[in-house]
Amino acid sequence: MNIILLGAPGSGKGTMAQKLTGELNIPQISTGDIFRKNLKEETPLGLQIKDILNSGGLVPDEITIEIVKNRLAEPDCAHGYILDGFPRSIVQAKALDGFQRVDCAINLDVDKQTIVSRLSGRRFCPDCNGTFHVSALGGSDTCPVCGGKLITRKDDSEETVLERFRVYETTTLPLIEYYKAQGKLINIDGTGGVEAVYRRILDVLRK
Ligand code: AMP
Repeated sequence: MNIILLGAPGSGKGTMAQKLTGELNIPQISTGDIFRKNLKEETPLGLQIKDILNSGGLVPDEITIEIVKNRLAEPDCAHGYILDGFPRSIVQAKALDGFQRVDCAINLDVDKQTIVSRLSGRRFCPDCNGTFHVSALGGSDTCPVCGGKLITRKDDSEETVLERFRVYETTTLPLIEYYKAQGKLINIDGTGGVEAVYRRILDVLRK
């Protein structure tokens, strides 16, 4: 099954994609993770996109589309995948339709106030790409999954969060209508605990 996860920054796409990947046994393809890896390893791409990522803007469509196209052509994607963070614009969605068949687009619906509270308390593990909320860490800055040192992502600062939200509303939000028109949209209430949201997704996918 070829699944797209849609939703604002902080709506829980990454968390849900990680859980679904285990359940469905198909890979999670996160463009954000791919870009952060390049940034960390200071590859030519990483150096090129550093300022964009740190300011909360979007990497140009041509670059992003090419990366996803190549990644989805790898053998582990042959039986399906979960796209987390792609597409993020109508141009990307149209390009994807040109080289892949999308089965469904799951939109995690979360109000702005919840998003801001989630992102401001978000901690990230650069070693295993796990994301946690401070309220669940008991004051620790150690990753509960792999023992790595947790950090606050640079793009989770208040100013950048607001910019990412603005970009989401202008460029990514129209994707909801795009997939609705194709009859592929699944809207999920993304508020509440991780397990509750995950159940809602599984319930719909199993129908
Ligand atoms: P994320 O982890 O999905 O929030 O992505 C982190 C950052 O990577 C975004 O704020 C963008 O700068 C960049 N990025 C991720 N996915 C895309 C995409 N599909 N198109 C353009 N930029 C992206």
